[in-house]
Amino acid sequence: MFSMSLVDRDSVVVWHPYSDGTLFNSEIAIVSGKGAYLYEADGGKYIDAVASWWTNIHGHSHPHIVQKVAAQAGKLDHVIFSGFTHEPAILLAELLLGRLPGNQKKVFYSDNGSTAVEVALKMAFQFWYNKGEIRNKVIAFKNSYHGDTFGAMSVSERGAFTKPFENLLFDVIYLDVPVPGKEVEILSELSVILAHSKSQIASFIFEPLVLGTAGMLMYEPKVLDALLTLCKSAGILTIADEVMTGFGRTGKFFACDYLTTHPDLFCLSKGLTGGTMAMGVTSCTLPVFEVFKSGASTTFFHGHSYTANPIACSAAIGSLELFERAETMEAVIRIEQLHTDFVQKIGKSKKVKHARSRGTILAIELLSDSGTSYFNTLRKQIYTFFIARGILLRPLGNIIYVMPPYCISTEDLNYVYLAIEEFIDSL
Ligand SMILES: *Cc1c(COP(=O)(O)O)cnc(C)c1O
Repeated sequence: MFSMSLVDRDSVVVWHPYSDGTLFNSEIAIVSGKGAYLYEADGGKYIDAVASWWTNIHGHSHPHIVQKVAAQAGKLDHVIFSGFTHEPAILLAELLLGRLPGNQKKVFYSDNGSTAVEVALKMAFQFWYNKGEIRNKVIAFKNSYHGDTFGAMSVSERGAFTKPFENLLFDVIYLDVPVPGKEVEILSELSVILAHSKSQIASFIFEPLVLGTAGMLMYEPKVLDALLTLCKSAGILTIADEVMTGFGRTGKFFACDYLTTHPDLFCLSKGLTGGTMAMGVTSCTLPVFEVFKSGASTTFFHGHSYTANPIACSAAIGSLELFERAETMEAVIRIEQLHTDFVQKIGKSKKVKHARSRGTILAIELLSDSGTSYFNTLRKQIYTFFIARGILLRPLGNIIYVMPPYCISTEDLNYVYLAIEEFIDSL
């Protein structure tokens, strides 16, 4: 059996995420990673232009994070986090609260983005339960993506991803995304919703400034501030899902750093450990936490076996330490500038419907007559074209996006841009 290639062995025993059962998926076997590159056994290499599903920010196997992980693994691998604690969890919470808006006071650990969202939703529901109010509804953006577990699916866009489970998801009030030009309309949409049903609404959950899976759909801080202000004056808890946008992605440390209003809860994951370990965080304000000191149910019955895993905490601390080096955010600003210039250039192409960027996120929406969705037929064509050029890009339907590790060189980023231009010319 072991004379078979990795790819063949894989196809026998492994079920991959987001893979179509009707297709034979020949996966690419990666044996190592360094900086912005992923390597195959035979020396083939790829520029990781999607930061390995938006997680990797400092480059692969960064020596500082590797050292933190190795040291922690040799000292304390794991310990139950109920009734016990450890320094990496405490220090990480202190560091995160130092970076989050001042109203954030408590950190709750879990192990991925979906669980960070589940925790936030459950905290918000139980917040009202403890206050003796029945609030079963959540407001969410129509095109949002908050993860693949049931609560996270419930507040995500209802489409192909959620179709088989439709009857099992809880009620959500959807709000259109306030993209430029639609701000006034959406604000009045929210006002109407609040006027009719505010006493039933527990929370408003949103991806700040960039809706990732929706196709890097972008909107402005000003309108988000206005939406949050409306929710706050109606007494509704606001949940920022910064799972994708956190840790420098949007040009500031958190996307919510562009705002003047501070959300009540934050969900973090993906870049949290620099893209090395699975970890999720939900943070909240003191008023949210304090409600668990009285009321009907004072225990938050939620906790995963690997909650606050010390090795994951140490990886996250290592990643945050890298942000103390000026070069990390300087790299973010460099990428932001390069993206902005490229948007100017590529936006002029007749084959481009819309080009946009925010921080280190670049998105190019191609004109296409086969529908503008995840399943657009251009998807496979785009993926194959870039893989053949040693670039890992994973388009969202007809939307090509680039979200690199911050360590990517200007030369490599220019190579990616050039390949995008070539692809667009080939259409
Ligand atoms: C990826 C993502 C999630 C889910 O995170 P997982 O770690 O994949 O479960 C939630 N919210 C947003 C905004 C995301 O981009």
